[in-house]
Amino acid sequence: MAGKNVFRFKCGKCRKEAMNITLTEKSVIVQSPFKESVKYSKPSAKIRKALRERNLHALDYYLELDCFCPECGKVYCGNHMKQEINFEADGWYDDATFTCPKKHSRSIG
Ligand SMILES: [Zn+2]
Ligand SMILES: [Zn+2]
Repeated sequence: MAGKNVFRFKCGKCRKEAMNITLTEKSVIVQSPFKESVKYSKPSAKIRKALRERNLHALDYYLELDCFCPECGKVYCGNHMKQEINFEADGWYDDATFTCPKKHSRSIG
């Protein structure tokens, strides 16, 4: 069985590993500080290309990287990216807000 590649990305603040993405023939597994793993079947050529180029903006577009700050263009570890879970008034999980060390924030559902 050919080809299992692990791409590692360091925290833009402390340089510890913040995220890794494992690419195989049939899946992409994203290991971020906030989600254990997300699997996608049959990663497209576009995703493979973005990974080879370590193009975080493209990867974020395809894979929704919760530890990535588009404004900084960097990923951050769990110590530096802050996650806040937002709930609807009725108590249901709504989305989460992620704030980078430079106080850029965005919400991901
Ligand atoms: Zn860090
Ligand atoms: Zn930022």
